Amino acid sequence: MTAQPQALQTLALAERLAPSLVTWRRAIHCHPELGFREFKTAGLVARELRTMGIEFRTGVGKTGIVADIASDKTGRWVALRADMDALPIHEQNDCAYRSRVPGVMHACGHDAHTAMLLGAAALFAQHPPTAGGVRFIFQPCEEDADEEGLSGAQRMVAEGAMAGMSAVLALHVTPLLPVGKVGYDEAISASVDDFVLTLRGPGGHAASPHLTVDTVMVLGQVIGALYAGVPRAVDPMHPAVLTIGSVNGGHANNVIPSEIRLTGTLRARNAEARLAAMQVCERAVTLARALGAEAEWHWEQPSHPLSLNDAAALDALVRAARSLLGPDCVADDRGLGLGGEDFTYFAQQAPGAMLYLGARVDGHGEWHTPTFDVDERALPLGAAILYEGARLLMS
Ligand SMILES: [Zn+2]
Ligand SMILES: [Zn+2]
Repeated sequence: MTAQPQALQTLALAERLAPSLVTWRRAIHCHPELGFREFKTAGLVARELRTMGIEFRTGVGKTGIVADIASDKTGRWVALRADMDALPIHEQNDCAYRSRVPGVMHACGHDAHTAMLLGAAALFAQHPPTAGGVRFIFQPCEEDADEEGLSGAQRMVAEGAMAGMSAVLALHVTPLLPVGKVGYDEAISASVDDFVLTLRGPGGHAASPHLTVDTVMVLGQVIGALYAGVPRAVDPMHPAVLTIGSVNGGHANNVIPSEIRLTGTLRARNAEARLAAMQVCERAVTLARALGAEAEWHWEQPSHPLSLNDAAALDALVRAARSLLGPDCVADDRGLGLGGEDFTYFAQQAPGAMLYLGARVDGHGEWHTPTFDVDERALPLGAAILYEGARLLMS
């Protein structure tokens, strides 16, 4: 890594924070909390912000925190965002800082995101903005939604977390790249449309399928129609993918079930691809009915809308990364693919961008696997990129 001279000071300051960053990340990793239940995590964030002398509000969007460092002069305000929630996964890593909570794990790196944003706050506390200001947004529940179907970003936006912001930036650690590399994607988030399909029939005896409607046979045809149909209906230059994640029905080996419930998700990278795939879904329902079953397709609300990185905001993050990590730090690898990311709701409020920060640990799993881990050498780099990126957008 060859940093530009003006970035060397930031790197040195960030490296001095490295022991704290690791301590924060491990403390959060040991005590992972699911969406809207980030009480300990928010408590740690509040404690550290208080130590840094930064003013903040708690309870924004239930368990979120908003902290501001303002200058005396008017100017642009830049928001930096991290997510704090963990996943319902049982950790299989055998390390000193493994999850102490059975069945809950930071398997997406949000522990690292929270630590890096605290690091950026520490850098700004040492060198505050000279005009405008910087806002630190610690959001709950990126991975899920509450009983009203709203995710953490939606809750925080509704409570004014983005009011007055000129731009918003975020990092996401990636196991696809090693430390020292960054990647980005045209999109912040693919469109995410989750669905439920219910197939119903009278049910009946396994030995007499002719006297009933075999919902299992219908299910097989419907799955075939969906999986074969989407790739044949969508322009191959525009990615879209449909995945069925759960199938539930039946209790006995000799009974044709009267109801089968199937859930899944449709992801797309442009509006035409999304629409074409949705038409395939409608045809699958028609097929199920033609085979004699009652069929009901329900699109869950809300879905993440497709959103793209803002060019100027992304440029600031990439320039910051290049100044700190060297001119060759941007990898060709794509960032997100067809993932969903609720940062999209912050980026609807002001020009926004998300950069992927290399943090691969060889031999460990991808995002959302029980062996996911983060190379902690990425933590000071991430804090420095957030700091420099925000400063570029303020000037
Ligand atoms: Zn995730
Ligand atoms: Zn994530």
